[in-house]
Amino acid sequence: MQQDKLLDRILPSVVKPGRYIGNEWNIVRKGWDKTEVKFALAFPDIYDIGMGHLGYKILYYLLNQREDTLAERVYAPWVDMEAKMREHGLPLFSLETRHALSEFDLVGFTLQYELSYTNILNMLDLGGIPLRGAERSIGDPFVVGGGPCVFNPEPVAPFFDLFVIGDGEEVVIELVEAYREWKLEGSDREGFLLKAAAIPGVYVPGFYDVDYHADGTVKAVTPNRSGVPDRIQKRVVKDLDTAVFPDQFVVPYIDVVHDRVMLEVMRGCTRGCRFCQAGVIYRPVRERRRETLRKQAEALVASTGYEEISLTSLSTSDYSGIEPLVDDLLASYRSCGIGLSLPSLRLDSFSVGLADRIQSGRKTGLTFAPEAGTQRLRDVINKNVSEDDLLAAATAAFEAGWDAVKLYFMIGLPTETLDDVTGIAELAQKVLELGRKIRGKEGKAGRVKISVSVASFVPKSHTPFQWVSQAPLEELERRQDHLRRLLRDRAIAFSWTYVDESLLEAVLARGDRRVADVILRAWQKGCRLDGWSEHFDFAKWMEAFAEADLDPYFYSHRERDLEETLPWDHIDSGISKRFLIREWKRALAGQVTPDCRFEGCTGCRLCQDFDVRNELVGGEGPSENQS
Ligand code: SF4
Repeated sequence: MQQDKLLDRILPSVVKPGRYIGNEWNIVRKGWDKTEVKFALAFPDIYDIGMGHLGYKILYYLLNQREDTLAERVYAPWVDMEAKMREHGLPLFSLETRHALSEFDLVGFTLQYELSYTNILNMLDLGGIPLRGAERSIGDPFVVGGGPCVFNPEPVAPFFDLFVIGDGEEVVIELVEAYREWKLEGSDREGFLLKAAAIPGVYVPGFYDVDYHADGTVKAVTPNRSGVPDRIQKRVVKDLDTAVFPDQFVVPYIDVVHDRVMLEVMRGCTRGCRFCQAGVIYRPVRERRRETLRKQAEALVASTGYEEISLTSLSTSDYSGIEPLVDDLLASYRSCGIGLSLPSLRLDSFSVGLADRIQSGRKTGLTFAPEAGTQRLRDVINKNVSEDDLLAAATAAFEAGWDAVKLYFMIGLPTETLDDVTGIAELAQKVLELGRKIRGKEGKAGRVKISVSVASFVPKSHTPFQWVSQAPLEELERRQDHLRRLLRDRAIAFSWTYVDESLLEAVLARGDRRVADVILRAWQKGCRLDGWSEHFDFAKWMEAFAEADLDPYFYSHRERDLEETLPWDHIDSGISKRFLIREWKRALAGQVTPDCRFEGCTGCRLCQDFDVRNELVGGEGPSENQS
């Protein structure tokens, strides 16, 4: 009550109060005192971003389906709200019942992006939870991490009690059950952590010691309790088709990202781009059946009132039944004004054809990701698309009436030369000229616009590029300047990422446990919302590195020896190190590796060691109501 009154006073003075009110459509509120296990789903960024996260929608639904469990949402406050909360002593609270974070039994954070790490500390602090796992006592919640970044959890290991490696749907339920058992037994915190560590896919960092060589590299990560595994194997939901999926989403009252029905048509991608961590950690490919997706769409459209259905995955045009699925959904929903969107398309004319079929309104812009400017470099990164593919896709787009094309590239890729960077500008120019020629036939050449978006390459753990050096800041800036000079045509818009943000991302992505000290110091200096450029303060981060006596270049720029023990070697993604080394050597030789879905196993060993396989079921049989 007291807290509600305080909120009533605070909210009129902050931007977008709708971020903190809750009470949205389809919210689940349960009796706090009557529910045994209370699970906070904490998203380490603001509401506007976190509300679009599909993983948390699944977990929210899954946990709230259990009678004995409640799940509530918690988001990072924007800076104005944080200031007010600190001024008035208001703890960070859940949107459903406004309980403080510290009152939950389990607090889960999803680690989607390295630059959100200081937000985690800020949220723990605002929520009244001691920052380090070792400082927590029996009344404190257990802090759980999941998501892609936990494949190298070491830089944030001291702040977490445990991590879930891999798909979370099954583990989260096993964790809840272990928690209930532990509560009945009435043992100490270690008692629960030992139970959790026995669950496959759970990593309890406090149960492992890290030793270092004199040169600062990791010597070994060794269990310090008996019975815990040397390596923690990721969890894989083998049958995605029968895995639980929500029949309702919480519908926000303010604008958020991905505010629409999202259907996860498949999980995983085996195309094998060598820079891509998602392609490793979400392997194998598992598709949902068309009929399952139809039913999910029906339930979600009815329960949310959304007017757009998005078919999500890492590469939706690779879904084996994409054409019949699109036809099916269009036949059912177009007449009621419900549109379809395909956010991740392969770079080919087939995908443009699909996009054309689903497009009902204005053709605003199509996005392609050639990633590199020359064929040589595209072969190095195993991006199996040619210049002809790009030009064919662009031709199809302009012929279908699109005026604008966005092109995504990276600079700083391994073996890159200035010629490769020049190749980006040449490719963009070719696409522009093609557009002017084709659209010119309708007198619309002047409307053609090309956006060139260039990110700096960040080497990630568990990829064939996990050993490589990230190009130094000055070199990345030099390459950006080079492009800026070349991209002179006013019809080409050039955007780029800040290189200092990429450097920090590279440190946090491949850091060891000592980096936690830097994160803590940076947060103490006021760093938070680092993923928001207006709040990113590189100088403070550099001070934090200096005070912790760590060199950021040791983590970002140093090329690792193939024999070196990497800080994440005890986390088993299922893809063998031998395969990654082989892929790295093939990259250096400019040899491409095909997609194992279509051209046979390429030997990553996941299927053999984890007893899984690619499941392509999307195209199977016509669905009952197909028109
Ligand atoms: S083991 Fe073979 S088939 Fe299975 S994901 Fe790896 S490369 Fe593909």
